[in-house]
Amino acid sequence: MKFSNSARIQTALESMGIHTYEDILFHIPRTYEDLSLTQSVLKVDRQRIVLQGKVATQPKMFRHGRFTSTTFKFLAHDHQLYSVIAFNRPFFAKSIQLNTMYRLVANYDSNRSSVNVLNLYKDDGSLPVLKPVYRLPEEIPQYVFIRLVKKAMSLLPTLSFQRSLPESFYATHHVMPIEEALPILHYPSSLEDVEKASRLFKFEEAYAYFSYMKQRKLSQQALRKQTIDTISYGKVVEKIERLPYRLTTDQLQALDDIVNDMNDEHVMHRLLQGDVGSGKTVVAVMALYANSLRGQQGVLMAPTDTLAKQHLQTLQQLLKDDGLRIGLLVGSLSASERRFIKSQLEEGTLDLCVGTHAVFSEDVTFFDLGLVVIDEQHRFGIAQREKLRLKGPHADFLMMSATPIPRSLAMSIYANMDLSTLTQFPFEQRNVQTYVVQEDNALIDYTIQLALEQQKRIYILAPAIEQSTTGKQTVEELMDRYTKKYPHLVASLHGKLKAEDMSHILQQFASGQFPILISTTVIEVGIDVKEASVMIIHDANTFGLATLHQLRGRIGRDGSEATCLLVTQTVALLDNERLDVLVKTNDGFVIAEHDLEIRGPGELLGEKQAGVPSFNVLNLVKDRLILESVRRFIDS
Ligand code: ADP
Ligand code: MG
Repeated sequence: MKFSNSARIQTALESMGIHTYEDILFHIPRTYEDLSLTQSVLKVDRQRIVLQGKVATQPKMFRHGRFTSTTFKFLAHDHQLYSVIAFNRPFFAKSIQLNTMYRLVANYDSNRSSVNVLNLYKDDGSLPVLKPVYRLPEEIPQYVFIRLVKKAMSLLPTLSFQRSLPESFYATHHVMPIEEALPILHYPSSLEDVEKASRLFKFEEAYAYFSYMKQRKLSQQALRKQTIDTISYGKVVEKIERLPYRLTTDQLQALDDIVNDMNDEHVMHRLLQGDVGSGKTVVAVMALYANSLRGQQGVLMAPTDTLAKQHLQTLQQLLKDDGLRIGLLVGSLSASERRFIKSQLEEGTLDLCVGTHAVFSEDVTFFDLGLVVIDEQHRFGIAQREKLRLKGPHADFLMMSATPIPRSLAMSIYANMDLSTLTQFPFEQRNVQTYVVQEDNALIDYTIQLALEQQKRIYILAPAIEQSTTGKQTVEELMDRYTKKYPHLVASLHGKLKAEDMSHILQQFASGQFPILISTTVIEVGIDVKEASVMIIHDANTFGLATLHQLRGRIGRDGSEATCLLVTQTVALLDNERLDVLVKTNDGFVIAEHDLEIRGPGELLGEKQAGVPSFNVLNLVKDRLILESVRRFIDS
C-alpha cells in the first residue's frame, strides 16, 4: 500500500512492518499526553501544567554554549500572565505566532517563577484531551502518522483483522472485540478505557512471544547428542580445588547445573545470569575445562576484541597446568595469523578458542565443537547464534548475561532456556557510592583529585563521540575540557578506533601512564582494571539504568572505596528520579526490574531481532499476571 508521496516516509513505514491500513491501526499509541487544562496552578516546583492561551510578547532567543533558551510571556485561560522559558528550541523565535491560540504543556519552576516548556501545540479547537503519542522512527513525524490513523479509522468497517489467540481465549479472559478496542486506543476519552481496550493487545503480544519461544524450545529439544562422552565429576572437582580461590556456593551450583546438562543427551541451552562482578567468567572457564575432558573443542565468544583478549589471559592463567591449547580469533589478526588459527581449529589441534564476530565467518570450521559460551549474550543476535549452531550441530550452548532479573520474570523472558543465577559476590562487599550531580558541581574535581593522589584510575564517560545534532556531551569536548585541567594525564577511547589502538590505550590507562580515560560506552562490557575507583558519567540521563549499573561495575573491583558520579545537564530536571534508583541500591536485580518497567526488555534481549515478537503494549513488570496466564495457557 502506498501511504505517502515521500519515499523516506514510505520506506520508514515499510521497515516498521506497516503495509496495510490494518497495520496502521495495529500500531497503537505508546502513551498519551494529557492535554486537559490545569484548573489551578499551585506554583509548586515541577508541577506539570497545561495552559491554553496566546503568546503575548515576541520570543527572544539566547545562546549559552551548546544550549539555547527562548523566553516569552503567555496570557493563559486563567487570565494570568506567565513567563515562559523554552530550552533548546531555537526555532520558536521564528515559528511562534502572536494572536494565535496555543496549548502549552510545561513544568512550573518555583525558583524563577516561570514555566519550562515541554510541548507547545496550536490549538484550533480540535486537540483531543488525550493526545496519542506513537512509537515512530525519526523519519515519520507524529502528525503524519495521526493523519494515516484518521484515514484508516474511516475505513474500519471494511477492514478485516487477523487474530492470533484462539477464540475460546477471548471469551474466558474478558477481552474486548478488536473493532471496539481500536477506536478507543486511537481516540480515547479516559485512561481507564485505554487500560481495558489494551488488554487485548497485551494478551496477543504475550501469546505471540510465547508461541515463538515454544517453537524454539521444541526445535532445541529435538537436538540430541549422537554420543555422550560423560564428563567425570571427580575430575571437575579436582580442578575446582586447584583454582586460586574458592568458588562461591552459587558458582558451584551453576557449574553443577552445567555439567549435568552436558552429560545429558539433550543439547544444553542454559543462561547463566549474574550481576557485574559476580564471577561468571570462572564458571565459563570451568565449563570449557569440563568440555575438554570429553575431548571436544570449546569456543568462548566476546562482543569486543578487548574483552576477548582479556578472556584469553584469564583462560591461559586458570588453565596453565592443564596442557590445553588455546587460541584467539579476532578481527584484528593478520591474514596469516588468521589462516593459522583457522587450520588449527579445523584439524583439531586447538582445544579452546576465544573469539569475536570473526568466528561467525563461514570459512571458520571446527573439528569437533562441543561447547559454545557466549559472554554478554545481549550483544549477539539470534542469527549469529544460528551460525555457531551450524559449526557444531550438537554443541552445548551456555549464554551469559550481566543483567540479572528475578527468577519468575527470567523464566518468562528466556522461556526457551534453562536458568542458573549467581546472586552472591565473591568479595564480601563492593564499596561504590553513587551521587547525582550537575555539570558545575565541585564534587567532580574533588573526586578526581583525590583519586589521582591515591594513584587510582578514573573513567569519564560521554554518550557521543563527536559533535552531533543531539546536543549530547561528547568525548571530544570532554577531552578538551579535562586536558586543560589535567595536562598529560588524559587519554580517550571510542568504538571508531582500531582494535589494536584501543587495547594500547587501555594498557596505558591500566598502567597509570594516563590515569584518566575519557570514553564512550565501549568500556561497558567486562573490562577489568582493578585500580579504577572513579566513574563519572556525563549526560547520565541518556543511558538506561542497566547500562549505568554495568558501567558502575567497572570500578571498585578490588573491594576498596569507589565513587560513581551521575552528571546531568543543568536544565534537565526530569530524569533525576530515575537515576535515584542507582543512588539507593547496588542490587542489579532491583535495577534491572526498574529498567524493564520503564524501558522494556530491549537491553536484555539485544536490539530488535528478526522474527522475535516484541512487546509494545505489554509491560513485563506491571503486566506479570497476563504474562503468567498466557505462559500457562501455552504450556498446557
Ligand atoms: P562478571 O560476572 O562480571 O563477568 P568476573 O567473572 O569478571 O565477573 O569476576 C570479577 C572478579 O572476581 C574477577 O577478577 C575474578 O577473578 C574474581 N572472582 C571470581 N570468582 C571469584 C571467587 N570465587 N573468589 C574470588 N574472586 C573471584
Ligand atoms: Mg563478565
